[in-house]
Amino acid sequence: MDKERKLIIAGNWKMNKTVAEALDLVSDLKMELASIKEVDIVVCPPFTALCEVSKVILHSNIRLGAQNMNEHQSGAYTGEIAAGMLKEFSVRYVILGHSERRQYQKESDALISKKALAAHAASIKPIVCVGELLAEREGGLMEKVLDTQVRGSLAGLTKQQMEETVIAYEPVWAIGTGKTATSAQAQEAHAFIRKLLVSLYDEATARRVRIQYGGSVKASNARELMSQPDVDGALVGGASLEVRSFGDIIKNSI
Ligand code: PGA
Repeated sequence: MDKERKLIIAGNWKMNKTVAEALDLVSDLKMELASIKEVDIVVCPPFTALCEVSKVILHSNIRLGAQNMNEHQSGAYTGEIAAGMLKEFSVRYVILGHSERRQYQKESDALISKKALAAHAASIKPIVCVGELLAEREGGLMEKVLDTQVRGSLAGLTKQQMEETVIAYEPVWAIGTGKTATSAQAQEAHAFIRKLLVSLYDEATARRVRIQYGGSVKASNARELMSQPDVDGALVGGASLEVRSFGDIIKNSI
């Protein structure tokens, strides 16, 4: 597939996989995907598996991502993990502001932007998630919600930091529900986000930012979604937990 930006496909394992299970999966993925050069491949295991997974993918084409981090560098924040700790395991990406964290941990756009700045300060690329609820889409509020989330969650990023940030458009109604956005719906939202980036930064910056689609991506719909001009990859949940389905998503996207 001829794309303006290199595709980035990330597996968000969420709260799944023991260390042993993570090692099985990532060892299989490493073999299965060894020849792929066209896509940036990222796996995001739970914190507990980062150390072991990082050893397996060393010198491979698979990069490591975390699912969250704290905005502070260190200190009295019980139960939290700082960017510097992720760096110890060569973590290159971190998912920030996933809708599950926005919902269950009440993460705000302001907090997410602090985390994004802290990630960049540690040379970790944030994957910042945005997306509307079903009621918001049905109420005609999709653009308003995306506008607020993009402005708020990316506040304060320099042009260069913006270019090295990945945005994941994940309509909440499509996450884990089996209801994928149509490729036209995804393209419409992605184009809206890119237009907003033009107004917040400039044309050149906006053209360099990769925008992933997330929400029930599977092998059967990946190609159609990735063929859209403003869809630059995928953030995959459920289908990233098996080598076959994640591998096929990547292969079908090329
Ligand atoms: P899903 O999750 O692929 O299982 O819908 C996507 C996500 O939450 O990132």
